[in-house]
Amino acid sequence: MVVPWCPRTAAAVLTVLTVLALLTVSGCGGSGLPRPAGTSPSASVPDPGAGDSVEEDIDAAVSITTTYWSTHWSEFFTGAYRPPRVLGAYDGAAAGGPSCGGTPLPDDNAVYCPGGDYVAWDMDLMRAGHRRGDAWVYLVIAHEWGHAVQNRLDAGLVDLARELQADCLAGAVLFGAARDRTLTFEDGDTDELADALSALADATPWTNTSDHGDASQRVSAFSRGAESGVRGCLPDAVR
Ligand SMILES: [Zn+2]
Repeated sequence: MVVPWCPRTAAAVLTVLTVLALLTVSGCGGSGLPRPAGTSPSASVPDPGAGDSVEEDIDAAVSITTTYWSTHWSEFFTGAYRPPRVLGAYDGAAAGGPSCGGTPLPDDNAVYCPGGDYVAWDMDLMRAGHRRGDAWVYLVIAHEWGHAVQNRLDAGLVDLARELQADCLAGAVLFGAARDRTLTFEDGDTDELADALSALADATPWTNTSDHGDASQRVSAFSRGAESGVRGCLPDAVR
């Protein structure tokens, strides 16, 4: 993924939408543990943005995500948009790192901490994911930002399946940013997104609020946001 936008046709955006919606999930099989290893088949796809460092992609992902929300917030919600704090990189394996509600931030993971109203990510997770494809960091950051958005909403707007709603909001933001021309999808990005959603999925389907959902549920939730936007991510009763 690259920033800023290099002109592409609307048809190209529609094509990737369709591809993502139709993708069948295979391969990574969802261990439930966000511990990527190796490379995905899509890593061999020529990627003009592949030269960006993980730090550059993280900065770009933060920028396009908060820009999306500040631009579009009032189309969906009342009040002013307030971005979460970006605590950013941490090392979950090191002693004395940051904590959320008295609990150290999790190793090889990423979080939104409601108490501190911040987003943060273990750099090991980001580096390993970035090696699979740069879309990884955009997904993780847009997903955690989705939790910050949930925390700002009336309870009736937050879906019981919080994690799948965060995936949906990530899809709405990344594809919305593409429509806004603040982000360009490159060849391989949609494969990378499906790969990342699958690698970070649970082995079993969603049954309660803390579950992330299995691979096909995560891809499906992300695709719904990509196609229908933020409104498509809200509970049926308020859509
Ligand atoms: Zn989450």
